[in-house]
Amino acid sequence: MICTVDATHDPNLRSWVESANQAGSDFPIQNLPFGVFRRQHQVDPPRIGVAIGDQILDLAACSQLGLLQELPDSVQMACTASNLNPLMALGRMASSALRHHLSQFLSAAQPPPATDDILVPMTMAELLLPATIGDYTDFYASIFHATNVGKLFRPDQPLLPNYKYVPIAYHGRASSIVSSGTPIHRPIGQRKAPNETVPTLAPCQMLDYELEVGCFVGKGNTLGEAISIEQAEEHVFGLCLVNDWSARDIQAWEYQPLGPFLAKSFATSISPWIITLEALAPFRGQAFSRSADDPQPLPYLNSATNQQQGGINLRLEVWLTSAQMRQQNLPPVRLSSSSFQQMYWTVAQMLTHHTSNGCNLRPGDLIASGTVSGELAGTEGCLLESTQRGSKPLTLPTGETRAFLLAGDEVTLRGYCEQAEYTRIGLGECRGIVS
Ligand code: CA
Repeated sequence: MICTVDATHDPNLRSWVESANQAGSDFPIQNLPFGVFRRQHQVDPPRIGVAIGDQILDLAACSQLGLLQELPDSVQMACTASNLNPLMALGRMASSALRHHLSQFLSAAQPPPATDDILVPMTMAELLLPATIGDYTDFYASIFHATNVGKLFRPDQPLLPNYKYVPIAYHGRASSIVSSGTPIHRPIGQRKAPNETVPTLAPCQMLDYELEVGCFVGKGNTLGEAISIEQAEEHVFGLCLVNDWSARDIQAWEYQPLGPFLAKSFATSISPWIITLEALAPFRGQAFSRSADDPQPLPYLNSATNQQQGGINLRLEVWLTSAQMRQQNLPPVRLSSSSFQQMYWTVAQMLTHHTSNGCNLRPGDLIASGTVSGELAGTEGCLLESTQRGSKPLTLPTGETRAFLLAGDEVTLRGYCEQAEYTRIGLGECRGIVS
């Protein structure tokens, strides 16, 4: 089932939180993404909030004040938890009911509540990981990324024959997923240049970002029971931005024959707000249109609904500032702009494939899409592609060049949905400065 457009997406809706009504806000009343925060410099436990304009609506406070009483007890309880896992576990009906309630509560058609204890300015808050992430799986769902990377390593056969049949993934490390803004330490690892005979242990010299979209699992599935393509989106809570930081020199030496390991597990950054599938309903569209000589997905990965509505018209961008750019007060430079709708596999196909062997997904598990790259120059989702493995460095506004990331570089990922007749919504930012 695909979420449908309803009264919560009405572009005429306004909020009594004024900043939410400003054009270009990532968090208008039509968005209502969930996250976990605490007031900075305070030791109170993490609590659940909803981004609205430049404020956070404190759901624990709302619950304590009886402002959520119309909702089922289970939803009220989940709103007082220290992470989103309990709300995720309740499934789509619960998050949808909460969304409808909050849409009405925050609407300018209602008088603002007498208390101001329920709003926290986002700049005052510490934004945390939104869920306890039990497992993290990273796919490889952009055929353009797979082809571009394949060309660098296997010019004769860039795309391996399994790619168009099986959504490729590796099992990532959940423990090193960090919230946006966490500094990224350059990893040390085994590297061996082609002209060297033995590897050495040394700091990574080819540090890279990967622009990805993350999907948080909502309701889980029982071990041994696969999720069908028709049911897949019932198990999705929402999306965020993911930067799968990658050490290319470590990766090149270690990845065969079992795939990525320490080149990836040193850090993965995610954005703090989870945009629900309900919020994304107006921005759904066709899945990737395969050319006539491409095979159709196997039946378990194929459905008419997924083909017609499985895509998400989500624009994605990568921005960079160097330390020198910041010293000179220069604005960030955009390195990439692409569309999530260009992915070869949809979110539903990735999730369905993941469970096809009976593997159980649990609430709060994170499934990332793999690097999002398009077909054209300027759409590459990582430096490995855009600099051709470092052979064609980029030039920054200061005149500095970059083959890979240097100390002090800040990478910011952004995402937003924009479509005629609907209010723009954003995913916010995913940031990290590398050492
Ligand atoms: Ca990746």
